[in-house]
Amino acid sequence: MNESPERVECLIIGSGPAGYTAAIYAARADMKPVLYEGMQPGGQLTITTDVENYPGYPDGIMGPEMMDNFKKQADRLGTDIRFGMITSVEFNSKPPHKVWVDGQKEIVAETVIISTGASAKWLNIPSEKKLNGSGVSACAVCDGFFYRGSDVAIVGGGDTAAEEASYLAKICNKVYMIVRKDEMRASKAMQHRVENTENIEILYNTETDEILGEMVVEGVRVKNNVTGDMREIPISGFFVAIGHTPNTRIFKDFIDMDEQGYIKTIPGSSKTNVEGVFACGDAQDKIYRQAVTAAGSGCMAALDAERYLSSKHFAESA
Ligand code: NDP
Repeated sequence: MNESPERVECLIIGSGPAGYTAAIYAARADMKPVLYEGMQPGGQLTITTDVENYPGYPDGIMGPEMMDNFKKQADRLGTDIRFGMITSVEFNSKPPHKVWVDGQKEIVAETVIISTGASAKWLNIPSEKKLNGSGVSACAVCDGFFYRGSDVAIVGGGDTAAEEASYLAKICNKVYMIVRKDEMRASKAMQHRVENTENIEILYNTETDEILGEMVVEGVRVKNNVTGDMREIPISGFFVAIGHTPNTRIFKDFIDMDEQGYIKTIPGSSKTNVEGVFACGDAQDKIYRQAVTAAGSGCMAALDAERYLSSKHFAESA
């Protein structure tokens, strides 16, 4: 016999700063939120080191510790936090909406808050896939330790690449930073930091042709896209830091998105095109993408969901 679906008032999908903040507000509003953590509990900040720009921590805090604090706070206030992935959804024109957990368990939700964040992009060259986990990584903070004292390379010219290059420079012998244009996209402060770090060599106008090595990374072949010159550099770690893709694929048949897959919300709110479905955090923000803005938008989503439910219940009881 099929189990009847569980009914919840407020379902939160994702466990970064947006999801946990939504949970804190929803729990305090007595919406009995159920939060599914997804594949990377705690989200992107769990693969970061120091967070120095989140207000309230005068000495900074480590990303994983901060996310642990978010979780504890959401838990203490009564969020039902569960390990699991939402693998598909069926949103109707009006709630209740249906979602499935790990391809099996069905949940029927009065309100859904999407806070699924974004994931790292890859170069998509064959050697990157072949050597993933054997010297290729998208997280310097997670894996840099394995290359202590060695030479490594990092691809990308944004703030993430600059920050991770600085991090790697502290533990590795030498860091090659592979930047495809003749300038970096990173903030001036971060550019200045990498340019002034002795053991970081920035290779501008340079693209990765192939990562070298059979079982483990042994080097990288790069191409200067102005001169066409190829060069092989011996390295043992290859880090990719070229941006992110929003984790919104499972919603695409129901929710309006832009061409990159970022969810469209009604300006000044977290409302999506579907009644009772709200979006917050990096899944709907390609501009700011900060922990503090994600948390702020999580608060908005919970308040919007709470107001939506209250007006619905009021209308039903009138
Ligand atoms: P960005 O999108 O800002 O930068 C991506 C970088 O990767 C760019 O230099 C881009 O090059 C390069 N790139 C993209 N695709 C490829 C490719 N296929 N091959 C080679 N290079 C490629 O991503 P980030 O993750 O760096 O940053 C995301 C956001 O988060 C930004 O808004 C950033 O400011 C913010 N951030 C803030 C931090 C902080 O404040 N402490 C820390 C980290 C991130 P090109 O410029 O040529 O397109």
